[in-house]
Amino acid sequence: MHLHSKLPTVGTTIFTSMSHLASEYNAINLAQGFPNFAPPPKLLLSAANAMQRGLNQYAPMAGYVPLRERIAEKIEYCYGRRINPDSDITVTPGGTAALFAAMMSVVHKGDEVIVPEPCYDSYLPTLELCGALIKRVPMKFPDYSIDWDRVQTLVSPKTRMIIINTPHNPTGSILRKADMERLSAIVRNTDIMILSDEVYEHITFDGEAHQSVLRYNDLAERSFVVYSFGKPFHVTGWKTGYCVAPAELMREFRKVYQYMNFASFTPAQVAFSELLSNKEQYESLPEFYRQKRDLFQDLMRSSRFEFFPSHGSYFQLARYSDISTLNDAEFAVWLTTTHGVAVIPVSAFYRDSTDNHVVRFCFAKTDETLEKAAEALCKI
Ligand code: PMP
Ligand code: GLN
Repeated sequence: MHLHSKLPTVGTTIFTSMSHLASEYNAINLAQGFPNFAPPPKLLLSAANAMQRGLNQYAPMAGYVPLRERIAEKIEYCYGRRINPDSDITVTPGGTAALFAAMMSVVHKGDEVIVPEPCYDSYLPTLELCGALIKRVPMKFPDYSIDWDRVQTLVSPKTRMIIINTPHNPTGSILRKADMERLSAIVRNTDIMILSDEVYEHITFDGEAHQSVLRYNDLAERSFVVYSFGKPFHVTGWKTGYCVAPAELMREFRKVYQYMNFASFTPAQVAFSELLSNKEQYESLPEFYRQKRDLFQDLMRSSRFEFFPSHGSYFQLARYSDISTLNDAEFAVWLTTTHGVAVIPVSAFYRDSTDNHVVRFCFAKTDETLEKAAEALCKI
């Protein structure tokens, strides 16, 4: 059979390969981004109760109604924006699915989409499936800020969408008010849509507020905003998230989503709806993760890694030029197989594998895991 691949250049994701290598070598996995500590016990009880109470059939396509109501309340509380839970929110099986449905629903063959790199690995393959012309913009090195002048030069009458991600995976950089103002100015009087990936909305450090597009009227009215419950509730494996968009955009989103998945896992939706009004769960996250970031940085002070600032997310970048001249993919494998700590090479987040000799650590781990990892890394 002659198979004509739709994604000929795509292989297995770096998260799968590094997690696989980590378990093969019994290494500490600071590679794939997931917490290794327990979710809130009440969340587990709520999901179990939902199943026992018989809430095991399809939820409404757009999501369990009380959950959408709680999400709308939370958005008003966090970002001062009133949205309609009937028309502006769709619950999805994770943030990745929301990203996929958003791109699929509005990006046509031949449309141009501007994407700052490095970027989360699903964006570019999804855009390829849409037949988009991808316009990549390198973030400035080493602070990983967005070069808005370069973004501006890439805008053309064919630009359909700009994708942003704050707090940013893999770099831990964040967008600030000035960035949002530049973005607003670029899209003003155009038909360009924004896809804003805000899955790390509640993990920002040093008093910096998360700059959601939902805080800005002129951006919110043209944006799909993607969130994931996996991050704030420490349950990445539950794969539940949601998309927020104005009704006109959400109508198109749902046309795709209803055939992609139709509805998301009911017991998880019930459980999140019961816990979402507990603000403490997400309001405690900046301090919770700041302690982890600072602990890891302190423990690593005597190592030969050069740490970059992490302003948000649960990721920390480090340059290893003092240790090795290997390229970052080889270095990540060497670190895993020889020193027992798995990391992600940052080149995996660039289409052309840009290699600045930088790797990504995930610090969403117990203190004990971070201590063990740092002990091994400081010996190098
Ligand atoms: N966007 C970014 C930037 C992420 O890091 C992740 C998650 N790991 C996602 C989207 C997807 O989240 P989910 O696991 O809910 O699909
Ligand atoms: N978002 C997670 C990370 O960046 C993992 C996502 C995945 O495994 N697909 O590590």
